[in-house]
Amino acid sequence: MRIEQLGTGEPAVAVVGAIHGDEPCGVTAIDRLLASDPPIERPVKLIVANERALAAEQRYCEEDLNRTFPGDPDGSTHESRLAAELTAELDGCTTLALHSTQSYEEPFAIVEQAGGRSEELARRLPVDAIVETGPFDDGRLFQSVETLVEVEAGYQGSTVAADNATRIVREFLRATGVLADQPPLEPHEKDVYRLDDVVPKREAEKYEVCVSNFERVEAGDAFAAADGERVVADEPFYPVLLSAYGYEDVFGYTAKKRDSSA
Ligand SMILES: [Zn+2]
Repeated sequence: MRIEQLGTGEPAVAVVGAIHGDEPCGVTAIDRLLASDPPIERPVKLIVANERALAAEQRYCEEDLNRTFPGDPDGSTHESRLAAELTAELDGCTTLALHSTQSYEEPFAIVEQAGGRSEELARRLPVDAIVETGPFDDGRLFQSVETLVEVEAGYQGSTVAADNATRIVREFLRATGVLADQPPLEPHEKDVYRLDDVVPKREAEKYEVCVSNFERVEAGDAFAAADGERVVADEPFYPVLLSAYGYEDVFGYTAKKRDSSA
């Protein structure tokens, strides 16, 4: 784990990249911020979390770090111990964690619960939509950090994701009073989606997803396939983080749109 800091004193704001080693956008954003050496109003901690997985260009070494929190200092895996270290580092910090996906090009924010400080911060970020995990937060960084916005910045490894992450870090730091080079963005109305269920995938050689994330799927629509066998929606839903190969045993999630019947 690499820990950097801008400004002096004990930071109450943090930015974390590379929770997943195959998502380099957050590291690029952190390195660009450090290189620009901006004037700082209050200190901020900048953390590159899973350096070992990053070097291997893999999501994780032994288990998915973002399913491992709060972790265990004496845990049996690299990620379990790392989760405990990161939990300690982020104690009391309002935190932005940067991710990227195999499912969607535009940036969107993820918060544990709508309606609080995390959602207010998310509304001040240049993101398309806000996703609320609700109960689907098992082992995620939300277990360890009270005020946390996760952002999915775009496709893994893309320059678009790196550029989005760079802009999002700057806006997050303006919204938290770390940077005063420009006023923070006003909070914007955004569509809010609440995760409703996981979409399991059976063992197969080849997976396909044939719908777009955040675009409503109707009951009876085929939205994915495993070895050519269609997966059909029982009821309408909005796909979130749905991809053929993003996760090992699920396609992703179904969501309901807030203030909507589906
Ligand atoms: Zn990730």
